[in-house]
Amino acid sequence: MANIREMTCIICPRGCQLTVEYEGKNVLSVKGNACKRGNDYAVAECTCPTRTLTTTVMTESGEVVAVKSNKAIPKELLFDAMKQINALRVSDSVRQGDVVVANILDTGADIIVTSYIE
Ligand code: SF4
Repeated sequence: MANIREMTCIICPRGCQLTVEYEGKNVLSVKGNACKRGNDYAVAECTCPTRTLTTTVMTESGEVVAVKSNKAIPKELLFDAMKQINALRVSDSVRQGDVVVANILDTGADIIVTSYIE
C-alpha cells in the first residue's frame, strides 16, 4: 500500500511544498515541485537522506574550530560522525581548508576546517 509524505524542498529559497507517494523505498510520484531538483531531493529523502554535517572541534589548547563535511553524508551516520568528531583534539596549527578527518566513516566525505570561533 502506498504512503504519502509531505516535505519542504530545501534546495532553494522558494521552499516548494512536496507531496511524495511511495511504497517502501520506491517513490511512485512527486508533486508540488517547481523544478526537477525538487523531484531529485524528494527521491533522495525517501531512499537515502543525506545532510552536510556542520559542527565544531576543539584544538589541543582548547580553542574552538568550526568544521563541516565537504559533501553530504547519510543521515543515519550523523550521530556516529559527531561522536568521532567530538572525541578529536586537533593541532593548534590547523587552518581554514585543512582536513581534520579524511573519509569519515567510509562515506567519502572529509571533515574540513571552515574557521576559528572567537
Ligand atoms: S522544487 Fe525547485 S524551485 Fe522548488 S524549492 Fe526545490 S529547487 Fe527550489
